[in-house]
Amino acid sequence: MDLSYILNELGEDRAAYFNAVAPPIIQTSNFACRTVDEMRYMLQHEFEVDFYTRGNNPTVDMLEKKIAALEGTEHAIAFGSGIAAVVAAVLSQVKAGDHVVCIKKPYTWTNKLMRHFLPRFGVEVTMVDGTDARNFAEASKENTVLYYLESPNSFTFELQDIAQVAAYAKERNICTVIDNSFASPLFQNPAAMGVDLVVHSATKYIGGHSDVMGGVVCGNRQRINQIFSAEYMTLGAVLSPHDAWLLLRGLRTLPLRMDRIAKTTRQVVAYLQQRDEVAEILWPFLPEHPQYKLAKKQMRNNTGQFTIKLNTNQIKEVDRFCDSLQHFLMAASWGGHESLIYPAAAAHNEGNYRSSLPFTLIRFYIGLEDPEYLIKDLEQAFAKMKG
Ligand SMILES: *Cc1c(COP(=O)(O)O)cnc(C)c1O
Repeated sequence: MDLSYILNELGEDRAAYFNAVAPPIIQTSNFACRTVDEMRYMLQHEFEVDFYTRGNNPTVDMLEKKIAALEGTEHAIAFGSGIAAVVAAVLSQVKAGDHVVCIKKPYTWTNKLMRHFLPRFGVEVTMVDGTDARNFAEASKENTVLYYLESPNSFTFELQDIAQVAAYAKERNICTVIDNSFASPLFQNPAAMGVDLVVHSATKYIGGHSDVMGGVVCGNRQRINQIFSAEYMTLGAVLSPHDAWLLLRGLRTLPLRMDRIAKTTRQVVAYLQQRDEVAEILWPFLPEHPQYKLAKKQMRNNTGQFTIKLNTNQIKEVDRFCDSLQHFLMAASWGGHESLIYPAAAAHNEGNYRSSLPFTLIRFYIGLEDPEYLIKDLEQAFAKMKG
């Protein structure tokens, strides 16, 4: 399917709404039936029909169709946040007595799910270093039902060999779930590498404007219908029609934004490589990175996140550098128009598992600004770093 078709036409039926170019926001909680017989039909086919917006809604459906097509899966289901999508995908696969193998440093709240919530319900979790696929196989037991991946993963951007982990899973009849948020649905498609369920925080690249939250799970029809009839309908973390509309709007420019971000990021990284204040850049797209070949193999392009390690042993200098940046905003999240930093130093003293990261690490996200504008900002902040 052509990317342009997916983003501009798929799932849209303009004749059904006055030939409006932009899709309608069907802001309704319920849909009326004309006859008892029709209602009977609706109740029997609740997964396919518009009956109640906690189940299906036409604006949300449109988004799901497009994202499923982008990920190359049969189906997708949208949630009110990325973490709701992560939780639903994981819960759909486990029951008390089961065992999960998860990468060691997933997104913060995924970490919470794995370390705190699942054990409460009798699900055992082993966290492994995902850079060696064999660790998944070696941690597997009789009762292992799920491998959980995130590639690249949060903050330090290690990769997993997705095809290899998926192959180990298939040999053992284990389901695989991956959080693909960092790669975007344009630059990495894990379903084609054998992964069963692909999750995104749509809040990030898909929304792209830092003004909406959402999540999505992509997979085959059987798995998505299973999630629909259980976790989705029961947990009720639905995406509102208006938010679906914002995400649809974000999708229109996704390729433009991703290409721009990829290019600017390469320029900013090249600048940072020349700076003595930067001891290391954690970014799998540098040829000297141990996972460079794997990055090239399983991702189509780089995205906008990387982490630098400042060449200092003084947290004050880290603070001074970060505080001096005028155009990089200091904030959580990423994927919007605005460039961001997230200093590991801010997570220190919190009992946060990220406190194990050195305070010299700063995560960057490169947005849509001009590279020269960003580089100039970095330049003046480096000049102030030493005080
Ligand atoms: C932000 C993020 C999430 C959670 O998404 P929300 O939309 O904030 O709920 C999950 N995974 C990754 C990798 C993220 O960056």
